[in-house]
Amino acid sequence: MKSSDRSLLERLAGRAASPTGRLTLLALVYFLAARLGLAFIVQPEGFAIIWPAGGVALAALLLSPPRQWPAMLAVVFVANMLANLTSGNNLAVSLGFALANSLEPALCAGLMARWPGGRISFSRLVDVLGLVAAAALVNGATALVGALVPTLGFGASYWRTWAYWWISDGLGILIVTPLIVTWIRSGTLRSIAKPARQAENLAWVLLLSVAAWFIFGVDESGLLPEPHPYMLYPLLVWATLRFSPRASAAALALATIVSLVGTVAGTGSYPLGGDALASRLVAVQGFFCVASLTTLVLAAVLVERRKAEATLRQSEARYRELFENINSGVAVYQVIDDGRDFIFKDFNRAGERIDHQPRAELLGRSIFEARPGIEQFGLIDAFRQVWRTGQPVNHPVKLYQDERLSGWYENFIYKLPSGEIVTVFENLTERKQAEAEHERLLAELERKNRELESVIFIASHDLRSPLINIQGFGKNLRKYFELLSNILDGADTLETFRRVAQPVLVERVPNALRFIESSSAKMDVLIDGLLRLSRIGRIPLQIQPVDMSLLIQTLLDSLAFQIEQANAQVDVHGPLAGCRGDKNQLGQVFSNLLDNALKYRDPQRPLVITIACQVSGQEAIYSVADTGLGIPAEVQAKIWEIFRRLDESGSVPGEGLGLTIARRIVERHEGRLWVESQPGAGSCFYVALPAAEGIDP
Ligand code: ADP
Repeated sequence: MKSSDRSLLERLAGRAASPTGRLTLLALVYFLAARLGLAFIVQPEGFAIIWPAGGVALAALLLSPPRQWPAMLAVVFVANMLANLTSGNNLAVSLGFALANSLEPALCAGLMARWPGGRISFSRLVDVLGLVAAAALVNGATALVGALVPTLGFGASYWRTWAYWWISDGLGILIVTPLIVTWIRSGTLRSIAKPARQAENLAWVLLLSVAAWFIFGVDESGLLPEPHPYMLYPLLVWATLRFSPRASAAALALATIVSLVGTVAGTGSYPLGGDALASRLVAVQGFFCVASLTTLVLAAVLVERRKAEATLRQSEARYRELFENINSGVAVYQVIDDGRDFIFKDFNRAGERIDHQPRAELLGRSIFEARPGIEQFGLIDAFRQVWRTGQPVNHPVKLYQDERLSGWYENFIYKLPSGEIVTVFENLTERKQAEAEHERLLAELERKNRELESVIFIASHDLRSPLINIQGFGKNLRKYFELLSNILDGADTLETFRRVAQPVLVERVPNALRFIESSSAKMDVLIDGLLRLSRIGRIPLQIQPVDMSLLIQTLLDSLAFQIEQANAQVDVHGPLAGCRGDKNQLGQVFSNLLDNALKYRDPQRPLVITIACQVSGQEAIYSVADTGLGIPAEVQAKIWEIFRRLDESGSVPGEGLGLTIARRIVERHEGRLWVESQPGAGSCFYVALPAAEGIDP
C-alpha cells in the first residue's frame, strides 16, 4: 500500500503500533469501553446491557494478523477482569465474564478470518454479511456460555440473561467494530479535507445530532408523543449514499450514543418495553441493530458498485487510449442485415492519418458508400467470412483504388463478442514502392554487371590482337638481332657483313618495327576509348531543361561541311519538344547519330536525314532517320557493344565506340536508345528522354 493511500488514523495507529504500544492502547480502550458497559447494569440479572467492549476487541483482532491474536486476547481477558473487579464483581464472576468475553471476539474473528477472509474493510458486502453472522450466530453461541455466569453467580434467569447478552454484545459488534475498522482502514482523509466537503460533513453531523436528540432526547415538548425513531432513517441513508461506509458507521455511532443517553435519562421517544430501563435499552439496541444492518449493507453494496463502475471506466479509458494511440489504423464496423452491410462505428487517429480522412466523415456511413469499389478489393468477402465463422482473417497486401484513395493495404479482421467487425490496417504503399525500386535497382545492377563483363570481354579480346602482333614482331626482332650477331661473328670483312645483313636491316627490321608501332597505336586508341567510356559514367550530370531545336541546329551547323560533302538533305520537323538532361552529353549523343548517318550512307541513293520528335506521356522521343546502308536485323544488337563495327574493312573511319557511349549517356538520363533499320532502306535511331515542361513546341 502506498503511504498516500493510508489514512491519517492508520498512519498514527501504525506509528503507535509497536507491539507493546498497540497492546497498551487496546488495554486502555477496552477497559474504558468495558467500564462504560458496566455503568449500565440491569437488575436483577446484575450485568451490563450495553457492551461496546465486544466491538472494540473484535475490531482490534480484525486489524491485526492472527499471530498477534493470542497476546491481544490475553490483554482483553486481563482488561475485562480489571473492569469487572473495579466495578465490584467478585473474582469468580469476573473470571467467568472475562472468559466469555475473550471467547466471543476470538470466535468471531476466527469465523471472519475464514469467511469472508481477506482484508476486512466493510466495503464488500461479504464483510458485512460476515459481521452479521459473527454478531448473530457466534455471539449467540458465546452468550450461551456467558449467560451461565449471572445465572450461577446471582441466580438470574438464564434465557433472559442470554437474550440481553446477545442483543447488547451484538450491537457492540455491529456498531463499534465497523466504526473502528472503517476509520482506521478505509480510504484517506483527503476527500474530507476539501472545504466544501468539510462544510457538508459538519452540517450533516449537526443535523443528525439535532435530529437524534429531538427524536431520542427531548420529549417534553409533546411534539412527538409516539416513538418516531424511523425518522432517523433518511439521515442515515443519506450519510450512506453520500459518503462512505466510514461515514455511515460514524453516523450510526453518533445516533446510538445520543439515543442511549436520551433513553438512560428517561426521555426520548423510546418508551417501548415499558418503564424498565433495561427493556427500553433493549428496544433502542434492537432498533439500531436493524438500522446498522441496513446502512452497512447499503454502504457495502454502493462501494462495490462504485468500484465496478470505476473498473469499467478505467477499462473503457484504457481501451480508448489503446485505440487512439496504436500506430495501425483501426476501424470498427456495425454489421446489419445478415452481414450485408458494414457501417463505420469507430475509426482511430492512425486510421484518419492513413486514409487522410477525418472520422466525422465516416461514422454512420456504409463502407460501400465511403469506399467505392471495396468489393473488388476483396475485403467484404473477408468481412463476411469473419462475421459467419468468428475466426480472424488476415487479408493480405492488395491494391485499393477509388477516386480519393490509392495504395497497398493490409488488413487484419476479427469479430468482437458484440458482433461488430474490427479491422486493423496498414498502408504498405511506401514499402511496396521501396520493394519495386529495390527490384528495379537489382535488375539494373545485373544489367550493368553483364554490360561490364561484355566490355571487359570485348576490350580484352580487341586488345589482344595488337598485343599478339607486338609480341610476335618483338620475337622476330630478337631473332634478327641474333642472326645479325652470328653474321657479325662469321664475317671476316665489313663487306661480307653488309652483303649478308643488308636484307635484314633494310627490310625485315623496319617492317617489324612498323607493325609494332601500328599495333601500339591501335592499343592506344582502344585504351583511350575505354577511358572515355569510363569517364562518361563518372562525370556528374548537369540536369536542366534543354532546348532541343537549338541543340540540333548547333550540331548541324558544325557538320555543315560534311553534309555538303555527302550531298545530304537534312529535314528537321521542328520545333522539337524540350527535354531534361545534360546539354553537353546529349550533344555528344546526337552528334554521334548524325555523324553515323552521314558516314554509313548508301552510294546508290541520295541521303536524306530526318529529325523529329514526339511527346508520349512523360517522355520526349527524338528520332534521327537516314536513307543509308541500314543494319541487318541479326546484328542490330551488336552495334551497341564496345569497339564493334559492322564493316571491319576500315573504309569508313571509326572506333566502334560512338553508340556504346551514346547509349551509356542516355541510360544515365534514365532514357532509352534503340534502332529500327532495314538494309537497303535506311536506319532510324530513337532517343527517349524525360520531357521538359515549358519547352514544348
Ligand atoms: P563507329 O561509327 O565508330 O564505327 P559506332 O558505335 O558509332 O562506331 O557504330 C557502330 C557500328 O554501327 C558502325 O561501325 C556501323 O557499322 C553501325 N552503324 C552505326 N550507325 C549506323 C547507321 N546510321 N547506318 C548504318 N550502320 C550504322
